[in-house]
Amino acid sequence: MDIPIHQYDAVVVGAGLAGLAAAREIKKSGKKVALITKLHPLRSHSGAAQGGINAALAKDDSVELHEFDTVKGSDYLADQDAVEFMCQNAPELVRWFEHMGAVFSRNEDGTIAQRPFGGQSHPRACFAKDRTGLTLLQTMFEQTNRLGVEVFDEWYVADIIYKEGVVAGVCAYDIKTSKPAIFNAKAVMFATGGYGRAFKINSNAHANTGDALSIVARHGLPLEDMEFVQFHPTGLAGSGILMSEAARGEGGKLLNSKGERFMEKYAPEKMELAPRDLVSRSITQEILEGRGVGPNKDAVYLDLTHLGEEKINERLPELRDLALTFLGMDMVKEPIMIAATAHYSMGGIPVTIEGRVQKSPTEIVPGFYAAGECSCVSVHGANRLGANSVLEAPLFGRHTGKTIVEDIDKLELVEVSSEDAKGMIDEMQRLLTNNGTERVAKLREELQASMMENAGVFRTKESLEKQKALIKKYRERYKNIRLDDKSSTYNTDLQEAIELGHIIDYSAFIVEGALAREESRGAHFRNDFPKRDDEKFLKHTYAYMDENGDIRLEYGEVTLGKFEPQARTY
Ligand SMILES: Cc1cc2nc3c(=O)[nH]c(=O)nc-3n(C[C@H](O)[C@H](O)[C@H](O)COP(=O)(O)OP(=O)(O)OC[C@H]3O[C@@H](n4cnc5c(N)ncnc54)[C@H](O)[C@@H]3O)c2cc1C
Repeated sequence: MDIPIHQYDAVVVGAGLAGLAAAREIKKSGKKVALITKLHPLRSHSGAAQGGINAALAKDDSVELHEFDTVKGSDYLADQDAVEFMCQNAPELVRWFEHMGAVFSRNEDGTIAQRPFGGQSHPRACFAKDRTGLTLLQTMFEQTNRLGVEVFDEWYVADIIYKEGVVAGVCAYDIKTSKPAIFNAKAVMFATGGYGRAFKINSNAHANTGDALSIVARHGLPLEDMEFVQFHPTGLAGSGILMSEAARGEGGKLLNSKGERFMEKYAPEKMELAPRDLVSRSITQEILEGRGVGPNKDAVYLDLTHLGEEKINERLPELRDLALTFLGMDMVKEPIMIAATAHYSMGGIPVTIEGRVQKSPTEIVPGFYAAGECSCVSVHGANRLGANSVLEAPLFGRHTGKTIVEDIDKLELVEVSSEDAKGMIDEMQRLLTNNGTERVAKLREELQASMMENAGVFRTKESLEKQKALIKKYRERYKNIRLDDKSSTYNTDLQEAIELGHIIDYSAFIVEGALAREESRGAHFRNDFPKRDDEKFLKHTYAYMDENGDIRLEYGEVTLGKFEPQARTY
């Protein structure tokens, strides 16, 4: 079968904040760039970000304090050179957005308003009401449109072409028609977002299925620190839909079934504004000890009633709306029910600060780049602070775009042929014609529920070993999938099946990394190893998968700097 081959200087996969910012830089330089995305750009998960974007703007704040908070928040696993780069450039990035037309909420005196977020020693999150991500995404999208960046939306990237030691392009198909194509380029960048969809209760878009991670891993390239999955403390009970940290930033209180403000016990100083890992564990602990609320006693209360209707409407209109729609509760009149929800992936494709993908802690893959949530640079280490990711994605996206412009004339276009898409096409055919008995939705539900139970907020050797064995079984069952929709027009059955294959693969990385990491650090908590162990584990995990799905672990050094690891109390 002859497949169309499109040639570009660079291909960017993903049109969230990271991908758009990169594509803009490349286009600006006069290079030919294609932006491929399975969703319309404005439906990227970046648009769901509510709370804010950090930058040390205030007179009595400082870049160094931002760096310190980030490193401490990361439980000292972040690479301090990357953190420095991010925090130093944050004020400029916010102004950059402003000059491109993003409208931030303001103080009375006209300066950009900033709200407190967890684990920060100063109110530092700039915001546009509680629709910050949407405002920034819209701005970036307008700017890429204005330059005429070529967008292939509703195109699904299912593979990379990795040969002769370099990445020579991607294999994709048009979701509308299922027609395949090869995008041949000197530079390929992934900006495909997070992997929260491995868990039953999560705050993520349905699209956050970590596709790029599994695509990369299947070529024998490593994934870094995959065991670190952030659980956000406040997801709506039952669904996990996010109630932004802005709710606590604006003064929200957490209460158990006895009406106790239980954070007094766990973080007496910072209370509700302790970092997310700590607050999520506290909530889960209250529930496990029987002080939960709601019909299943599996939630706690988030009380905002004392803020009053005017402030809630001014600062948190979106949250009020979400709680009303999905829970039938009005936060102006009553406390709403929340519980921890899988939210953010600290791990991902290992990259240098410049965005070059690494094939080991010390080597890079020529022509291959990544930025945003799918990458691990690592500025968040073991736990991300709120409002640092909407910062990371466009900042490192833009920087990686500049790196590509710098590299591109030195890179060669490696010749490709239809044969290079054979892997993708065979797998699509197999899924469409397989006459098995397994259903995608059922298998996915089982996987997500078991990940939540065995590899969630609290983990043990037993729970993780159980999950490892389950994933092996899910992998076998996946071979026995049957799809009812055999058509080629908007075949979402097919897409979901491919995505499920991705979820199974990267879930194995989460579990294997967590099993080997016999300590508790940031979002990774082991009941059987409740302490952080710097001697053995102040290091990054690099994990590699073989053809059988078995995973081998290596470790790489953490780049330390001016902040020495200390006990982490709040
Ligand atoms: C509900 C919610 C609220 C949040 N609030 C905040 C906040 O207030 N502050 C903060 O700092 N962070 C927040 N975050 C995190 C932050 O929004 C994200 O980490 C960040 O926006 C990710 O940007 P990105 O560009 O890396 O990816 P995304 O915006 O997720 O974009 C991913 C892109 O990749 C494309 N894609 C994926 N797979 C494929 C494929 N196989 N083929 C083709 N295209 C593909 C998608 O179509 C999409 O365009 C929040 C996250 C959530 C879920």
